[in-house]
Amino acid sequence: MSNIYQELFGDLPGPEYWNKKMETIKDAELKKLNNKLLKAQIRYLLKNSLFYHKKLKEAGISANSIKTIDDLEKIPFTTKNELRESMDESPPLGLHVAVPMDKIIRIHSSSGTTGKPTFQCLTNHDKEMWIELVSRALWTHGVRPGDIVAFGFSLPLFVGGLPLKDAFENIGATFLPIGTGMSERLLTLAKTLNANVLAATPSYVLYLSEFAKEKMSMDLSELRIQKIVGGAEPGLSIPAIRNKIQSEWSAGAVEGMGNADAAPIIFSECPWQNGMHFVGQGIILPELIDPESGESIEFIEGAKGELVYTTLNREATPVLRFRTGDHVTVWTEECECGRTGFRIRCMGRTDDMLKVKGVKLWPSAVRDVVASFIPKTTGNIQIIVPRNMPSFALQNLTVEVEYADEVDKKDLLKLKTEIEKALEMNLFVNIEVKLVPSGTLPRFETKAKLIRKE
Ligand SMILES: [Zn+2]
Repeated sequence: MSNIYQELFGDLPGPEYWNKKMETIKDAELKKLNNKLLKAQIRYLLKNSLFYHKKLKEAGISANSIKTIDDLEKIPFTTKNELRESMDESPPLGLHVAVPMDKIIRIHSSSGTTGKPTFQCLTNHDKEMWIELVSRALWTHGVRPGDIVAFGFSLPLFVGGLPLKDAFENIGATFLPIGTGMSERLLTLAKTLNANVLAATPSYVLYLSEFAKEKMSMDLSELRIQKIVGGAEPGLSIPAIRNKIQSEWSAGAVEGMGNADAAPIIFSECPWQNGMHFVGQGIILPELIDPESGESIEFIEGAKGELVYTTLNREATPVLRFRTGDHVTVWTEECECGRTGFRIRCMGRTDDMLKVKGVKLWPSAVRDVVASFIPKTTGNIQIIVPRNMPSFALQNLTVEVEYADEVDKKDLLKLKTEIEKALEMNLFVNIEVKLVPSGTLPRFETKAKLIRKE
């Protein structure tokens, strides 16, 4: 299979892997390593974290009851809410924190979009582990020494900020710490300093191409961006959005995914673009579960479920069986790049899921169908959900869809009907399409908000 990324880069310079031993480790060997690290993490938590000491004792678990990773299921899940309660009980950091403050060198905070933010604390050791993990992820993306990185993810507090800076620098790339909210500076600096990597959410990448054209009369061919590193939302998993980004920027786009309470990037896509590889060997122990029953699901080809993470070798804020709410599909067949880490695509988060007349619906799936109408649509949508109706008991749904400037007004009704039909065929739900002119819907510098309550 060839793709734009490979056409542009051919063979990337330098060794193929950041950490060959871990990235190409065989299942049996990884299991041995995980068994050892899991036992050590449990012993550590029993001794150092009041929260986990209590939780494990209540579940009847002692240091000896976890012998291998097959015993993981005996351990109860940890939820984000429990971490919040733990912080309320023992402010500011919570009962789960496993080191004294003088060992903590940095504190990150999650965004708090779905409730009170939680803190992620790092010791020197934890920081080094994150640098190793994120370096693996960026190397997998195709980032190499000598690359110049225009960084457009949010820098303050967010785990996708400073830890990525550390790893880009660790690899030997040149880091431009721009962040969000400075689109003109970002594009100007990218041009002046010849940046060839753009790191930002797919929504922001799309916003930047509009901004360059409309606000700066800048042609993207004036820039040298070759590699686009996306994440923090499922945008690049939508083929039409990825194609739009790749053709607008004449660059290859790859995506990564992590979780604030576990690690900044845990899954990373290689230039073959076959889904995101697990790259957290020896640092994160992932599981797949049925989101409703909580039963474990094996990581086999085509499996679907919610990701759950256990940190390994973490000192300050380790988590055991942390429920991420991220729903993914799994691939296990070999990838051309030789990495043995299984691959995933993320459909969305539990919090984002809608149910219309009992049918489950991901906002990203609606966007996927609408984006297949590019260039007649811009790919921008917003789903309107009645404010006083719970999102799992919807009776009908309206989606606002931006049509492109080129579309003739007299063809609008036909376009509306075509999109409605495609939505029904693909998603088995009747959704009313309301066409709005290009530029009507909000643009986002961080994650796109696909749902609007009215
Ligand atoms: Zn690969």
